[in-house]
Amino acid sequence: MSAWEPVIGLEVHVELDTQTKMFCGCAVTKGDPPNTHTCPVCLAHPGALPVVNERAVEYAVRIALALGCTVRPRSVFHRKNYFYPDLPKAYQISQYDEPLAVAGLFEYWVGEQKLSCRINRVHMEEDAAKLIHAGGDAGRIAGSEYSMVDFNRGGTPLIEIVGEPDIPSPEAAREFLQQLRNLVIGLGVSACNMEEGQIRWDANISVRPAGAERLGTRTELKNMNSFRFLQQALESELPRQIAVLEAGGAIGQVTLHFDPESGTTTPLRSKEEAHDYRYFPEPDLVPLTAGEAWVDEVRRALPEPPAARVERFMAQYGLSRYDAVVLGGGSAMARFYEELAAEGIDAKLAANWAMGEYSAHLNAAGLEPGHGHVTAQRLAALLRLVAGGELSGTGAKQVFALMVEERGEALDIVSRHDLGQVSDSAELETVVAAVLAEHPAQVEQFRAGKDQLAGFFVGQVMKATQGKANPQLVGELVRAALSG
Ligand code: ADP
Ligand code: ZN
Ligand code: MG
Repeated sequence: MSAWEPVIGLEVHVELDTQTKMFCGCAVTKGDPPNTHTCPVCLAHPGALPVVNERAVEYAVRIALALGCTVRPRSVFHRKNYFYPDLPKAYQISQYDEPLAVAGLFEYWVGEQKLSCRINRVHMEEDAAKLIHAGGDAGRIAGSEYSMVDFNRGGTPLIEIVGEPDIPSPEAAREFLQQLRNLVIGLGVSACNMEEGQIRWDANISVRPAGAERLGTRTELKNMNSFRFLQQALESELPRQIAVLEAGGAIGQVTLHFDPESGTTTPLRSKEEAHDYRYFPEPDLVPLTAGEAWVDEVRRALPEPPAARVERFMAQYGLSRYDAVVLGGGSAMARFYEELAAEGIDAKLAANWAMGEYSAHLNAAGLEPGHGHVTAQRLAALLRLVAGGELSGTGAKQVFALMVEERGEALDIVSRHDLGQVSDSAELETVVAAVLAEHPAQVEQFRAGKDQLAGFFVGQVMKATQGKANPQLVGELVRAALSG
């Protein structure tokens, strides 16, 4: 046992996929020319007034409920003041001490272990504009020549999920985020596109003597959006903090920057405090009221939560926990798998293919489950041939590759490329007879009791048929011929 125990708490931001912005009618878009979706409200012209986007509130409530939070009947928007070029009002409309929802619980898996993390709150705010730092390296402000602002993103609905410091390891932090992302995607409120920064997080980490109650002083890694870097950054920050403490020093509460190239963290600045932001209630917006009946309606329309789906997959399809997490953790793969099962494909065979060849194909092609040429119905047609013994495992993989390449159908490819498994006894008996005739010495030895030579004969037949013979049937035929 290590003498120190890590404690991690995450604050997660998710941009919502609403059609319009949080407080104005501008379209929420990606990839359009800069500054083409702006108006007096999101550019903060004097006198322009914000109006709350009702759909954004509904989406936020969905997330809050899916995390088991209590939606507060009344919540208040506050102004969070800070000056920066990405914020034309010089304040962000956010929520403060009366947030949309509080006191939830998120359950997630790390391997076979189910962990839970209390959710402190879910609140609503607006995204800042996007700053583009030009002329430097890697788009960072340090070393850049000049910066540009794209206000298209400014005012996009954003929710913040604040987790309690309940996460016990860097690996668990990564799992937490990946599974939270799956949950949000499944709710249909955000695609959580990583490259576009639709989901980003701050990770707070401290250490304390193992078993201690009191939390240590934390440092904060800000604005991350790579799962791998998150885990690496936390893994490098842990020994740093432990070394400081073991040398009798104290951890400064600082914001850190992680450099993936060197794999180390460096302090950026001392951490801001809430009073630095001079929060005060937004005078241009009335408090938000979420009626009980409406909240119940949103609750009833929620899809099955991933954690429940994983349990169901284990019970219904007899999958291992590992397979159930891989297949049931995300809604798109879960849907694909259930479509396969609905086609009457054996649950285990379907699971092996969905996680094996099919997933490899998705990765290679950069596709989401259920997209591309290989639909569940097309894959099912292939797997029926495997289940029926018409295709061997190897043959099926060849056919699958050709289905992808030629955008074809399994049956058609099998016949055109002559890839079917030979299960015709008469045809195979001829081959078996020929093989035995070619190896009289081995036949003699087998008859004298060297039983393991059966495998040799099967191998010879497989070779003679270029691997297309049904190996089980060949085994039977070889034994029959030798005992005859
Ligand atoms: P702020 O908003 O200033 O960042 P909060 O107190 O709201 O501060 O905490 C923010 C995040 O930091 C939460 O996700 C919480 O779980 C986490 N956190 C707070 N204290 C610790 C700690 N000692 N160790 C690790 N994480 C912490
Ligand atoms: Zn606008
Ligand atoms: Mg923070």
